[in-house]
Amino acid sequence: MLVETHAHLDYPDFEPDFDSVLRRAHEAGVTRIITIGTSVASSRRAVELAESHPDIYAVIGVHPTAADDGSTVEEDVITPLRELARHPRVVAIGETGLDYHHLPSAKVAKEKQVQVFAKALQGETEQEIEAGIHDGAYKAKQASLFEQQLDLAIELGLNVVVHQRDAWEDTLAIMRSYGRQFSGVFHCFGGTLEQANEVIALGHLVSFTGIVTFKNGKGVREVAARLGLDEFMVETDCPYLAPTPFRGKRCEPAHTRLVAESIAAARGIPLEELARATTETAEGFFRFDRK
Ligand SMILES: [Zn+2]
Ligand SMILES: [Zn+2]
Repeated sequence: MLVETHAHLDYPDFEPDFDSVLRRAHEAGVTRIITIGTSVASSRRAVELAESHPDIYAVIGVHPTAADDGSTVEEDVITPLRELARHPRVVAIGETGLDYHHLPSAKVAKEKQVQVFAKALQGETEQEIEAGIHDGAYKAKQASLFEQQLDLAIELGLNVVVHQRDAWEDTLAIMRSYGRQFSGVFHCFGGTLEQANEVIALGHLVSFTGIVTFKNGKGVREVAARLGLDEFMVETDCPYLAPTPFRGKRCEPAHTRLVAESIAAARGIPLEELARATTETAEGFFRFDRK
């Protein structure tokens, strides 16, 4: 018995064969699937899916990269999220956090690289200076979205699914400022053992995706092998990050089993033992059926 703690079942990728996706998950021993919202619309779809399928639960939130579209921050996302959170099958807030992977300046730098070959441009262009200013505004918007959702989680007594990419220090600083008012899971964890322990010492958890099955995922696999059995959960982040041997294909919740098998093998324990521990951790974190 396994819990898939991070899926995006509302994505169009799953439309053509949704029922088969659920059947395969069941056959693989995945008894519960948590579908994660990335916008207000996606969160609404997540709640609808949870409502119509007994094995599916919803996490609702707005992804940090949504700060990019210009509308989201002025727009009040908290009122609709609060409304959606009333639903008994909503088990956490998220995914929310910070993502600096595609900053405005990175886009300009990329364009410049192309231009360098064409025009041999040098020095800091006006475009770059402007992009630097946009970076600051973009980061501030993400932080505001993140904090608003953390406040909502506290108000509702829910835990939080945290998305962090290329923004470790800033994410930790915000998490630290909230103390232990809620517990968070750093999903799709790809950091070092030291970073994992930092998160755990603050009262939070990490969770691992199919990256642990990759040839070049040795570092993360070792982290997963060394943590306490009750300090992490398993997920796929589907439709992304399909584990080996499905790498590059659409991922789905059934593959949670491959993630769990890979970690169990790295730890030298039976799959059943890992499944029992991670399921218990997920039950404690999401508190299914508490209402
Ligand atoms: Zn994420
Ligand atoms: Zn995700």
